[in-house]
Amino acid sequence: MAPLDILLEVQGRDTTLDQLAHRRATLPARADLAAVEERLADIAARRARAEDDRRVLSERQGRLESDIAAVARRIHEVEGRMYSGEVSASRELMAMSEEVESLNRRRRELEDMAFEAMAAGEPVDAELAGLAAEQAGAEADAERLRGVIGEAETEIDAEVAAETQARTALAADLPDELTQRYERLRVRLGGVGAARLEHGSCGGCHLALPAVELDHIRRAPPEAIITCEQCGRILVR
Ligand SMILES: [Zn+2]
Repeated sequence: MAPLDILLEVQGRDTTLDQLAHRRATLPARADLAAVEERLADIAARRARAEDDRRVLSERQGRLESDIAAVARRIHEVEGRMYSGEVSASRELMAMSEEVESLNRRRRELEDMAFEAMAAGEPVDAELAGLAAEQAGAEADAERLRGVIGEAETEIDAEVAAETQARTALAADLPDELTQRYERLRVRLGGVGAARLEHGSCGGCHLALPAVELDHIRRAPPEAIITCEQCGRILVR
């Protein structure tokens, strides 16, 4: 095979490799995974806020319960003295009875507040349970998508390996100078460094070559390397 025909085949393999790399980078599952990861971050933020709320409510409930216990101890103390028989002055007994009454009022208030704190915790607990379920679902989605991506990558990588091997074998037969020239053009011209000349048009830029130029090409020796004067690509006759 003539070097230029080989070059065109190398170009074909390179184009396939570029397409494979593009397919690998833009797998639809990658965008899906990014969306799921965003959802997971949002769930985590909502969960952190709900856990904060839950902690504040639990602490308030804990404080109220210890206040209730302190009031109950005080009531027990005062009542103990009242009924011990040690105190006989009616004025003092009256004051103690009033204190017990006031402490009981205080205890009821605290109990109401503790009940409110407990009740306020219920919707937060429900929210936390909902978020945990949502998170588990999203994590399962992410896991599945990672699997899909991994499988697609393995498949593409196998194609890349096969293409690369075929390309390397082909390119081994090309003169270094031609290869280097082709590589430079490929970098500069969006991956296409060599194209076929077909029906008087360049297969790279798709423009028709002027008649004079075509005539010049026709008369050039077959091994001569000609380029498209419009885009600069190597033309293969
Ligand atoms: Zn061209």
